[in-house]
Amino acid sequence: MKRRLTMPLLIENGTVLTAGKTPAILPNHSVLIEDGCVTQVAPRHRFPRFAGRRIDASRKVVAPGFINAHTHFYSTFARGLTKTRPAGDFVEVLKNLWWRLDSALTTEDCYYSALIALLDAIRHGTTTLIDHHASPHAVRGSLPAIAKAVKQTGLRACLCYEVSDRDGARISQEGLEENVAFIRRCQQSAAGPQEPEAQVAGFKVRGSKCIAQAGPAHLSALFGLHAAFTLKDATLEKAAALGRELRTGFHIHVAEAESDQHHSRQNHRARVVERLNKFGILGPRSIAAHCVHVNRRELDILAETQTAVVHNPQSNMNNAVGTADVVSMTKRNVLVGLGTDAMTTNMLEELRAAVWAQHLRARNPSVGFSEVVSALLFNNPRIAERSFHLPLGELREGCPADVVIIDYDPPTPLEAGNSFGHLVFGMSQAAVDTTIVGGRVLLENRRLTLDLDEPRINARARELARKLWKRL
Ligand SMILES: [Zn+2]
Repeated sequence: MKRRLTMPLLIENGTVLTAGKTPAILPNHSVLIEDGCVTQVAPRHRFPRFAGRRIDASRKVVAPGFINAHTHFYSTFARGLTKTRPAGDFVEVLKNLWWRLDSALTTEDCYYSALIALLDAIRHGTTTLIDHHASPHAVRGSLPAIAKAVKQTGLRACLCYEVSDRDGARISQEGLEENVAFIRRCQQSAAGPQEPEAQVAGFKVRGSKCIAQAGPAHLSALFGLHAAFTLKDATLEKAAALGRELRTGFHIHVAEAESDQHHSRQNHRARVVERLNKFGILGPRSIAAHCVHVNRRELDILAETQTAVVHNPQSNMNNAVGTADVVSMTKRNVLVGLGTDAMTTNMLEELRAAVWAQHLRARNPSVGFSEVVSALLFNNPRIAERSFHLPLGELREGCPADVVIIDYDPPTPLEAGNSFGHLVFGMSQAAVDTTIVGGRVLLENRRLTLDLDEPRINARARELARKLWKRL
């Protein structure tokens, strides 16, 4: 029997930005949502007898929810932290800040830092996030703790634990096991309603139909690895074997700084991408975050293996490591998406930074604009689809109803041919009014509609952050 998951909802009379395979701008259109899916996108007069819930979107833009293809929820607790020494390069940033912070995280810290990041994401219309988690002294149970936060907020997230040899063999082994346990849990949930998260509303897609069902579509998993320079060959071998057995992809930082390449050449006589490819870490389900320092041969390997690259411009600028060459990646058929590396949950802010960074990199104000907008609008959905098996990032019949309504009444004509410019220069400066995931309204009139006590969550997070900072 088909279970009714959410009340039918009509988003009325907005300017609909469909994105997806046939992108269009549809003025004065309404979006009908039933059982968590978009069932119609049509001119507003087509729904005279609709009896369900209505949201007025007049003078607003209705778009698919944004996707963040690489982030770290735990970074939330670094906000305002002053207890770090100045770093001279990227490895010192890791040693002075991130490795001290993640080593001190407890399971409760993992849960609360995720919850705060997810609530932030809702406010910015980011509906799907691909996270990369580390808590070396609280490895076991960290992913289920984060998954609990994901379920409570109603968003979609793909989780992994970043395995590393930097803390010794025992912790590295725990990381491998945490990935395996969580991937199995997600796979079992997908197979049937044995697990608690199977009760979360989800969807299954058959042909062009989005069929409501109890399923795990809010949670998925990849096999996490930190970066080549903190992974021994033996660990890469073990991870690759487990990944093959589980039929999963990997999520790993690749050539973020030049030092990753230097380490690889010195210790393994291979460039980073070549070494990862040799072990079978790359492939059509895998994500290589950053790839700032890769050569043409490595780009060709990434393209041949269909590995997704995720560009994180704000983080790269903040760490002074350089800027990835998104234009060359696109030319060489690398699937390149956009992430924030936890600098923000606001994808339009990251998009703007990506545009400026490509211009500056090329010293040419005409370079890279359409490539980075495409990375966010078209490539991020393709990357997310590989984990969620859902047609995300698009507003058309049969797609999951992940929707953002932006309070943007354009002062100049908004048409298909200039929508990228409106996104970068206009919508990015406008407020998100409403966020919907799977037909469930999470934000309305700029207010969270979730049954979560946000002031209490913030107060507990502050307490935990203070304790965490004391332990550093
Ligand atoms: Zn990262």
